[in-house]
Amino acid sequence: MATTDFDIVVIGGGSGGLVVAAGGATLGAKVALVENNKLGGDCLWTGCVPSKTLIKSARVAYLMRNADRFALTPHDPTPTLPRVMERVASVIASIEPNDSAERFRALGVDVIFGDGRFIDPESFEVDGRRLRARTFAIATGSRPAIPSIPGVESVPYLTSETIFNLREAVPHLIVVGSGPIGSEMAQAFRRLGSNVTVVDIAPAILPREDPDLAAIVFRQLQSEGVDYRLSASIAKIERTPLGIRLLLREAGGAVQPVDATHLLLAAGRKANVESLRLDAAGVRVSDGRIALENGLTTTNPRIYVVGDAAGGHQFTHLAEHHAGIVLRHAIFRLKWTRPSAVVPRCTFTDPEFARVGLSETEAKNSGVDHRVYTFPLADIDRARTEGETDGMAKVVTSPRGRLLGAAIVAPHAGELIAEYALAIAHRMGAGHISASIHAYPTFAQISRRVADMRQKEALTPRTKMWIKRLFGLRGA
Ligand SMILES: Cc1cc2nc3c(=O)[nH]c(=O)nc-3n(C[C@H](O)[C@H](O)[C@H](O)COP(=O)(O)OP(=O)(O)OC[C@H]3O[C@@H](n4cnc5c(N)ncnc54)[C@H](O)[C@@H]3O)c2cc1C
Repeated sequence: MATTDFDIVVIGGGSGGLVVAAGGATLGAKVALVENNKLGGDCLWTGCVPSKTLIKSARVAYLMRNADRFALTPHDPTPTLPRVMERVASVIASIEPNDSAERFRALGVDVIFGDGRFIDPESFEVDGRRLRARTFAIATGSRPAIPSIPGVESVPYLTSETIFNLREAVPHLIVVGSGPIGSEMAQAFRRLGSNVTVVDIAPAILPREDPDLAAIVFRQLQSEGVDYRLSASIAKIERTPLGIRLLLREAGGAVQPVDATHLLLAAGRKANVESLRLDAAGVRVSDGRIALENGLTTTNPRIYVVGDAAGGHQFTHLAEHHAGIVLRHAIFRLKWTRPSAVVPRCTFTDPEFARVGLSETEAKNSGVDHRVYTFPLADIDRARTEGETDGMAKVVTSPRGRLLGAAIVAPHAGELIAEYALAIAHRMGAGHISASIHAYPTFAQISRRVADMRQKEALTPRTKMWIKRLFGLRGA
C-alpha cells in the first residue's frame, strides 16, 4: 500500500473539516481531505441552508395570508411543496461550488473520496492509500438519532437527511421532537399548508431554554395551528393505509391515536465516529462519544475532533471555531488555545430565539450569584411599525452588572445576539451596552433597553437623594 506523509489529514468535508483543509493549505501545510459522501456536510445539504431556505418561503406564504394585518388584501398563495423544495435545491446548488472538490484541489488539498479507517496511531487508510500525518482532524459530523420506539423500523419516516428531498404534498406531518430542528420544521410545514402535530415527552418546547422565553415561540406556533402533544410518550408507531399512526400515552396515562401521512423524527443526534476504527489509533470512545482531553484533543495527542463529532453543541459556527483552534495547534503549535465557551445560537422560528452565555435557568442551577433583567418587544417602536410585537429580551448579569448571558426572542434575534456575544466574550457589563448608541428605530434598541434596566436599578433612592443634594435639584 502506497504511503503518503501529510502535515494534516482531515476526515470529513463539512463545515469544520473544510475550514481546517482550506486554512491548512493556505498556510502552507500539506493537507489531505477524506470524505465518504459529498463535500459540504450537513449545513449545506441537509441542515442550515435547506432549512433556512424553506423557512423563508414559509414566511412569505404566512405574510401573504395575513396581509390584512398590514392593511393589504390577503392572498392565499397555496404553496406547493415540490416547487418550494425545488427552490431549496437551487439555493443549495448556488452555494455548493464554494465547497466543491475542484475548489479544494485548486487550493492544493489532496481530496480523497471513500470510507477509511485508522490502522495505527499515526496512519489512516482509505482508497488503497495509507495517509500518515502529524495531525488528524476528525470532522465527521453527526446524524439523526432514531429513537427506540416500538414499531419505528416498520414505518416510513423522514429525518433531516431526507425531508428536503420531498417532492410530494404533505397533508399531515407528525414531528417527534420540539427542539430547534423540530420547532423550525413544524412552523415551516404548517405555514406551507400541512397540518402539523408535534409530539414531545418534555412538558415544554425548546427544553434547553428558559420556559418564559420558549413560551413566546410556543404561543406563536400554537396560534398558527400547530397541534402540540407535550408530556406525551409514544407507546407504538404503526403503518396505516393512509400513512402513520402514533399511539400516544399522554400525561394522565390515557392512550390516544394520532394519524398522519408523514412522520419526521427530530429527537436528537449522534456523532459519526463508529466506522473510523478509533481503537486502532488509541482514541478512547465512551458511550459513543470521543473522550476529549484538553478542549478538542483526544487520547491520541495528534488526533483532534471538530464540530458535531466532538459531541457538544452542534452549530456550523462552532465547527468553524473548532477548526481555527486545530489550525493554531497544528501549524503554530499554540497548544494553549481552547474553544471559547461563549457560543451564540439561534433557533430560526418566527420570532427567532437567540441566546449567548448563561440562561436564567442555568444561572440558577449553577448557583452563581446573578441578577435578571427583561424588556418586552412591544415597547420597541420598530416592533410596532413592523407589526411584530411578541418577544422579549433578557440579560443575566453578575451583581455588579457584568454580563453573563443574554437571550432575545424577536425578529432577527440571530443578528441582534452578536452584540451580546462580543460583549460577553470581552467581559463587558450592561453599562457598556447602555452607553453605546443604537440606531433608531431598529430592533437592536431592545438590546440597549434591556441593559438600561440594570442601570436603572443601580439608581437606588439613596443614590438619587445624593444626586439631588449635590446638584441642588428640586424634583420629587
Ligand atoms: C435541519 C438542521 C438545521 C440546522 N440549522 C443550523 C443552523 O441554522 N445554524 C447552525 O449553526 N447549525 C445548524 N445545524 C447544525 C449544523 O448543520 C452542524 O452543526 C454542522 O454542519 C456541523 O459541522 P461538522 O463539520 O461537524 O459536520 P458536517 O458539516 O455534517 O460534516 C461532516 C462531514 O463528514 C462526512 N463523513 C461522515 N462520516 C465520515 C467518514 N467515516 N469518513 C469520511 N467522511 C465522513 C459527512 O459526509 C460530512 O460531509 C443544523 C442541522 C440540521 C440537521
